[in-house]
Amino acid sequence: MPGKVFIVGAGPGPADLLTVRAVEALRAAQVVLYDDLVSAEVQGLCPASAELINVGKRCGKRGNSQEQINALMILHARQKRAVVRLKSGDPAVFGRLGEELDALREAGVSFEIVPGITAAAAAASAAELTLTDRRYASALVVLTAHNARLGDQMRQRTPFNPERTTFAVYMPGPDYGKTARELMERGIDATTPCAVVSKACRRDQKVRFLTLAGLGSAHGIIAPAVLIVGRVANKEESLECLLAERGIFNAEARRHGEGLVIG
Ligand code: SAH
Repeated sequence: MPGKVFIVGAGPGPADLLTVRAVEALRAAQVVLYDDLVSAEVQGLCPASAELINVGKRCGKRGNSQEQINALMILHARQKRAVVRLKSGDPAVFGRLGEELDALREAGVSFEIVPGITAAAAAASAAELTLTDRRYASALVVLTAHNARLGDQMRQRTPFNPERTTFAVYMPGPDYGKTARELMERGIDATTPCAVVSKACRRDQKVRFLTLAGLGSAHGIIAPAVLIVGRVANKEESLECLLAERGIFNAEARRHGEGLVIG
């Protein structure tokens, strides 16, 4: 019998945002295949004796192909080693989990999926907003601006009322203007509030509140970032108190369409 593969969600970065089950799997790991966005802090929970292999392939840099990653999981499982496939956030959200599960099933390798905190949830906590605040939103749509055109994902006959929908856009950059245009072409109003959350839940997280129209001229957004679009991201009401409380409002940045910055 081959060993079991634990497919573990690493969450947004901090180790204390892992599940207890994820920590147990990491502590027992002999081989860990991890993606680029998995933080050093989370990697640090693996035993010193474990073999850590970066199988990431970020931003067009050459990395392992999906087939190679599948083959590595199967190879190590067949050697009866305790394998952890460690993915940022939640493994089931934009993580190519489907292809990996198909490969494991086909090879007869058993697996267990350990969920993690996905970027949209992390961003909501960083920006102190409610993704489905019932006063402003009745749907949450999770989509990516990368590798697929937004238009393909948001067909004309969307069942959602865009005014009462929150869109969580993963991989929204680097061309934020294009992402904004595509959303507007799909009927989302240019004045719709947005929050861009960089490195959510990490020490250097940054939150910017702006509008869809202002998104194109926002600069200096550091990856990884997730874009929350919808009325739930409207910080106008709380703006005054934030200004007073934290003194972080940058009038210059706002003139350039960057909105409120929380660093
Ligand atoms: N499985 C992951 C998503 C992987 S796709 C999850 O559930 O979160 C990678 C994208 O996730 C990034 O381009 C970015 O849009 C988002 N992301 C991952 N970690 C993030 C973080 N700490 N802060 C903001 N966005 C993040």
